[in-house]
Amino acid sequence: MTIFAEIRIYNTLSHSLEVFKPLYGKRVFMFVCGPTVYDYSHLGHARTYVFYDTLARFLRREGYSVFYLQNITDVDDKIVNRARKEGRHPLELAREFERHYHEDMEALNITSINLYARASDYLPEIFEQIEGLLRKGHAYITDTGVYFDITTFPDYGKLSGQKPEELRVHRIEPDPTKRNPGDFALWRIRPREEFGWESPWGYGRPGWHIEDTAITLKHFGKQYDIHGGAIELSFPHHEAEIAQAESFTGVKPFVKYWVHTGLLTVEGEKMSKSLGNFVTIRDALKRYDANVLRIFLLSRHYRSPIDFRWELVEQAKNSFDRIVNSYNNILEMDTVDEVGKEELSLIKNVETLREEFLGSMRDDVNTAQALADLFEIVRIVNMYSDDYDRITEEGKVRVISIYNELLDILGLRVGERGDMSMLNDLIAILIDVRSLLRKRKEYELADEIRARLREVGIELQDTPRGTKWRIKMK
Ligand SMILES: [Zn+2]
Repeated sequence: MTIFAEIRIYNTLSHSLEVFKPLYGKRVFMFVCGPTVYDYSHLGHARTYVFYDTLARFLRREGYSVFYLQNITDVDDKIVNRARKEGRHPLELAREFERHYHEDMEALNITSINLYARASDYLPEIFEQIEGLLRKGHAYITDTGVYFDITTFPDYGKLSGQKPEELRVHRIEPDPTKRNPGDFALWRIRPREEFGWESPWGYGRPGWHIEDTAITLKHFGKQYDIHGGAIELSFPHHEAEIAQAESFTGVKPFVKYWVHTGLLTVEGEKMSKSLGNFVTIRDALKRYDANVLRIFLLSRHYRSPIDFRWELVEQAKNSFDRIVNSYNNILEMDTVDEVGKEELSLIKNVETLREEFLGSMRDDVNTAQALADLFEIVRIVNMYSDDYDRITEEGKVRVISIYNELLDILGLRVGERGDMSMLNDLIAILIDVRSLLRKRKEYELADEIRARLREVGIELQDTPRGTKWRIKMK
């Protein structure tokens, strides 16, 4: 039986650190609020998406089977308004920015999402939930739409730590036909010339909160493990989701762990489209690669705010260069058969730091501390490669595989910069061709390959265990 190490994670719902225990064995259902696709995503969004990608990678590394679902908000006033200005169909505009969003995610090495769900594909589920909420007396119909009556749900406000009576008078979505200023829309009636759907309550569009619960109820059922998103979504968006889902299904809690990321700020203010202080992901990627941006975004604990400054991204670049150099140094080191005591102590220290790295990740996904642990590995590996120029093949493989394991959890790719993996592949091809030529007794051509490689600083060595290569520094 595998013993799972304990993971602790901060739950916004209980306002405390909790031991992570999924609802069903080792299966984890995770949903994260996705983009509203009316414009390019910026670094504030990148922070959220990079964090949940890292969380999913880490949970999978820990042996959990993670189903990571994200919605795409393709029905929204912002989309409709921009499309109207540009004389386009809202869904055409939405598809264009959805495509750009996927390009950005791929460029950031965000690969952990299993399924994307577009709001516009879930109208039947949305109708079913609204009907159910009306039937159970949690919602009411007015001339402008269908609204959720927050006085029918006593837990409203629990997630964001607010008192229900305060929220009742807190104005959201101002509309004179609502019973309480804090009631939120499930369906909004719109003029027929606007984009929308026919519904039992009139022509219009769904409210924003109902899409998430319609999508997750369909894929995850009445309860699931993790709901993520930026902290500013906790109210009213996530609060409304809880009210809708628990009122509709009667099952509590709708979500076991509410996990929220802190803000990305610029000079103390939230990076946002409306303030105009944003840097798009694609513009940032023109200056720095994904590894550097990920290190910058993961260099603070996910719940702490992170202030964006180009100097900090430049520091992250230097940090990543140190990782690449250390990785390549050990990879290029000559091998010996006999293991020395310095190597034994190196391996022991790297193994210990690997445990510390995993321990930091298990401690509320502390990527800031995990990065510090990784840089400690870099430091001791560099110390070793400064003092010694030999390591056993086994020692080399152990250090490289620990590097690969930890870098993969953080979504970092060394091969992308130093491009050692591609170099490895290319030289392996040349070595294969050369040995084929030797078998055919075409020694002249085989020697030509060896000589030409030597000219560019790559030396081939024929050993009883096959041909090896190393980089010969000039
Ligand atoms: Zn959402």
